Parts: sequence; structure tokens; C-alpha cells
Amino acid sequence: MLNGKTALVTGSTSGIGKAIATRMAKDGANVVINGFGDEAEIEAYRKSLEDDFGVRAGYSGADLTDPAAIEGLIGYAAGEFGGVDILVNNAGVQHVAPIDEFPVEKWNLIIALNLTAAFHTIRLSLAGMREKGWGRIINTASAHALVASPYKAAYVSAKHGIAGLTKTIALEGAEQGVRCNAICPGYVHTPLVDGQIKDTARARGISEEEVKRDVLLAAQPTKEFVTSDQIAAMASFLCSEDGASINGAMLQMDGGWVAQ
Ligand code: NAD
Repeated sequence: MLNGKTALVTGSTSGIGKAIATRMAKDGANVVINGFGDEAEIEAYRKSLEDDFGVRAGYSGADLTDPAAIEGLIGYAAGEFGGVDILVNNAGVQHVAPIDEFPVEKWNLIIALNLTAAFHTIRLSLAGMREKGWGRIINTASAHALVASPYKAAYVSAKHGIAGLTKTIALEGAEQGVRCNAICPGYVHTPLVDGQIKDTARARGISEEEVKRDVLLAAQPTKEFVTSDQIAAMASFLCSEDGASINGAMLQMDGGWVAQ
């Protein structure tokens, strides 16, 4: 379905991004993966994409809090893969603390990675998509792009920012075949959420089991974690012709969380 296209998925060495990159490769796209982690594990994953799906897969360890590194990443995709057709802005981190104790460096990190990095990847990729008359930008936002929770000031602010960026780019690329949407997951059990369970337990003075039951899944009427594969399937649909009229949407995949 995506043969000949190249998908750049940021933060794809783990969790949701890894599932999306794998799905893009399965759909036939060449893939540029990005993120941190064990070098040998990342290389094994990169190679498995090539071996399992017969596509080309590249890796860049660009730190997306650094605009110069983002320019390098987009330059790498252009030089090695002929540009980015599908851009998935997924890399993100979380920190949980009351606002009056929120570390300034954590605020700066979360805004830089969860919001500003997407500004840079989009500003550097959009022209190439317009020239080809086809492009898909998918932002991994969050239910927290639509509603807030206490102790997540930076994350909620960044994700609400991503919502605005998504809608703006949807308008700017609409007539040139570019679509920009955000997927808004509820809780997905990834390494990011593992860290959050620990932080929330500390911030609220309760056990990790209580955090899962009474804090995380309390918000999710289905009482089930969303899966990374379900999110990857939605990303795949957004790249298909059947999904071509979806533009500027905030696609909730949260078991009913924000319906309340
Ligand atoms: P994760 O921790 O499993 O993966 C995060 C990825 O980002 C990793 O590949 C990591 O190496 C990469 N990364 C971290 N800092 C980076 C940096 N400076 N530069 C480049 N890459 C960097 O997290 P996840 O749960 O898969 O989250 C992925 C996205 O989904 C995030 O944007 C997150 O906010 C969003 N999200 C997650 C959930 C959830 O419940 N897990 C829910 C809603 C939204």
C-alpha cells in the first residue's frame, strides 16, 4: 500500500513509535527510525524491518530537543531516502509533579520535545510533501491534548499545543495533498507509562497498583489499556486512500475517556 513512500517516525525505538514504524514497514514504506536506546538492540530492530518486510530502514539517533539535530535528521532522510512522505511526530516524555514543584528543566524538556520538535520536523518536511502532491503528518498527541489532569502541566500544555499545530498544518497543506492529524490515545502500557506510574505514586503518596486502578484506568471507561498496535493501525488508515478526507482531526483512542 505504501510502496515507494518513506515514513519518518520519531521516538520509534520504543513503545507506540516502534509499533507505528513496524506497521509502516509492513504496509510497504521505507522507514527512518529515531530515538534512544541500546545500539545493538536498535540495529537488530532496524535490520528486522528490512528482513521481515523487504523495505529499506535507516536509523538516526538525533536528539529532537536540538533544532540543529532535527535539521540533520531531515537532511539524512532527504539524502538517503529522497525525503519524507509520512512524518510521524511521536517522540515524547512525561514528568509528573505539582506546578509549584515542577522542575524548570523538565518543563523546558517537555515543551522542546513534545511540541517544538514537531514544529521543526514539519517546517522542514512540508515543502517536499507539497512538491510531490502527497504527504501525511501524524502527531501522536494524547487525551491530554483535549483534557487536563493534575500534576502534568508541561505535558498537557505541550499536547494542547500539538492540537493547535495539527489543525494549522491541516489548513496549510490541504490543497497540496497533505493531511495532518493527531491521534489522541488514552493510557497505553509502554515504558513511558511505567515511569509515570512511579512518579504518580510518589506525587500522590499511593502504591503503584493504586495508581493503575484508581488514577490511570479510572479515567478510561473500558478499564483497558489502549494498545500500541491499535494506534499503529489508525496511523496506517490515515495513510490509506480511505483515510484521505480526514484532515485536522483529533482522533480519540481512549476507551471513552474524554466522552465523560
Ligand atoms: P516511550 O517512552 O516508550 O517512547 C518514547 C520514544 O521517544 C523512545 O523511542 C525514546 O528513545 C524517544 N525519545 C525520548 N527522548 C528523545 C529525544 N530527546 N530525541 C529523540 N527521541 C527521544 O513512550 P510512548 O508511551 O511510546 O510514547 C510515545 C508518544 O505517545 C509520546 O508522544 C507520548 O506522549 C504519547 N502518548 C503516550 C501514551 C501512553 O499511555 N503511553 C498516551 C498518550 C500519548
